[in-house]
Amino acid sequence: MSIATAEIRLDKNVTSFVKERRKLLIDGQWVDAASGKTFPVENPATGEVIAHVSEGTKEDIDRAVKAARRAFESGAWPRLSPSERGRLVWKLGDLILEHLEELAELESLDNGKPIAVARAADVPLAADLFHYMAGWATKIEGNTIPISVPYAPGAKFHAYTLREPVGVVGQIIPWNFPFLMAAWKLGPALATGCTVVLKPAEETPLTALRLGELVQEAGFPDGVVNIVTGFGETAGAALAAHPGIDKVAFTGSTEVGKLILKAATNDLKKVSLELGGKSPNVVLRDADLDLAIKGTASAIFFNHGQCCCAGSRLFVQQSIFDKLVGGVADEAKKIRVGPGLDPKTQMGPMVSESQFNRVCGYLESGLAEGAKAVAGGGKRGDKGYFVEPTVLVDTKPDMKVIQEEIFGPVVAAIPFKELDDDLVKAANDTIYGLAAGVWTRDLSKAHSLAGKLKAGTVWVNCYNIFDAALPFGGYKQSGWGREMGHDALDLYTQKKAVCAAL
Ligand code: ADP
Repeated sequence: MSIATAEIRLDKNVTSFVKERRKLLIDGQWVDAASGKTFPVENPATGEVIAHVSEGTKEDIDRAVKAARRAFESGAWPRLSPSERGRLVWKLGDLILEHLEELAELESLDNGKPIAVARAADVPLAADLFHYMAGWATKIEGNTIPISVPYAPGAKFHAYTLREPVGVVGQIIPWNFPFLMAAWKLGPALATGCTVVLKPAEETPLTALRLGELVQEAGFPDGVVNIVTGFGETAGAALAAHPGIDKVAFTGSTEVGKLILKAATNDLKKVSLELGGKSPNVVLRDADLDLAIKGTASAIFFNHGQCCCAGSRLFVQQSIFDKLVGGVADEAKKIRVGPGLDPKTQMGPMVSESQFNRVCGYLESGLAEGAKAVAGGGKRGDKGYFVEPTVLVDTKPDMKVIQEEIFGPVVAAIPFKELDDDLVKAANDTIYGLAAGVWTRDLSKAHSLAGKLKAGTVWVNCYNIFDAALPFGGYKQSGWGREMGHDALDLYTQKKAVCAAL
């Protein structure tokens, strides 16, 4: 099958945005990196350079952290009322919706994801996150607490708690949902009154930089949001280790999450982590087969499998195995693979050459170890980083394709006999615990299994349902803390107990 190529004509704001050398946002100014260096950004559908972006390093991170500290401690930001802060966050959500098409195109160009997905999911979800968090700005409350103090008989106290912003936050985000991850990070930090230094992924820095312009347009005071583009080992590592940061929030691989944690131990920064996954998706024999076929295919192939929660291990009850897996393989074969900017594209390229090589390496290793591909199994085309949607069978539990996160459009289908402890054990047999899926018409079985799966999210008869109000995060090595929902506020506030003798 060939690769679709009829791309849309880009919005003029997108063409002018990528034409200009993009700078860093520090203290309300767009500035060059201290070194003067830039790095190229590629279109993953062609491998061609689409933009040049400043290469921030330690010195730039230091400047940005100092600006964020000043903005946190003094100036307009800490003086804003919660309502004024909330209105700024809301305005940012509105501006995103006003620029929806432009942002979706920029995201698709930079990341390779289908324009239809960026329009329907990434950008509206980001706007919704800011609107949701805006409402919380006025509702971050403490408690009054009746206390007894046994060693002070008869004494009276007025005790209460305050929830205060954690301070200056370093945020490091990945390339799979570049714009949405920026929103997940900035939304709760801004709603709670923190200030931020954001480092986007080097593969996909463009929409975060455009978001920086919208932050300014919304009217946030200078230094509240700083954006430093650059590489993980330099800018990212400097941010995680910077002594002027109170907290670091990271989304990315488990491997890098551990490095972040080590970097943060020096001064015991607060850390929240949203990391990798190898999510089990379990189909019972009584499931609605059509629903389960479409749902489990989309669970792995959405966003090219470049989702930390992708349903990459598909457990199917033996009696429906052939039918269900055949259906998923047919779905895989029907997916239109092409450049993200072609409106007909359903799956774009892998984000970069290294990610493409990594996914192809996993396919080769799985096939060499005896797995069989009933759909796909290799790369597609000679240009860009396209991989075929792939369904593997005949895998063994200790194969790399079963144990490790592939982060590509590759699902391994595994038969099981009964819904028993062996199935639960196999589903939980992973270092990760981000998400899981259950497909059945039997609600009792669904909820019982949902309770046994060690995962931060369990979807029943659906998958990849995200909402600003629904907390998301990992069990086990999939992370620390929960993003979205009111849980996200806990990541950016700390509680102060005040006790006054009366
Ligand atoms: P992936 O493996 O999916 O490419 P990574 O976890 O490597 O994702 O990257 C996610 C983010 O972490 C990116 O912004 C990247 O620049 C950053 N990063 C990579 N290595 C480090 C590091 N050693 N310290 C801090 N940040 C890093």
